[in-house]
Amino acid sequence: MLSFLQSKDPVLWSQRARRTTIKRSRYIPRWVKKKVWQRDGGRCVFVGSDGTRCGERNFLQIDHIVPWAQGGISNDPENLRLLCSTHNRFRARTESSKQAPQLSV
Ligand SMILES: [Zn+2]
Repeated sequence: MLSFLQSKDPVLWSQRARRTTIKRSRYIPRWVKKKVWQRDGGRCVFVGSDGTRCGERNFLQIDHIVPWAQGGISNDPENLRLLCSTHNRFRARTESSKQAPQLSV
């Protein structure tokens, strides 16, 4: 009887749901980092409005193309790219100003 009640308990259901969301991790596996690094040639992949690639080799960070907070995943190289810290900040600034109206909907 108790197990029947537990199976209908919304608190337990929400805990179960939370457990599945925890599975989606921000952690980027080492093989993914390596693959992104090799694909992007260890350089920033940001392309400016004039079509030239940044190519910075220092201060590189792995950036989520679809942001993690919006459902982007960390274990697929296709969703990740190398950006230098300048362009990562630049992108974060431009993306957040673009997404602000969506968040209020
Ligand atoms: Zn750059």
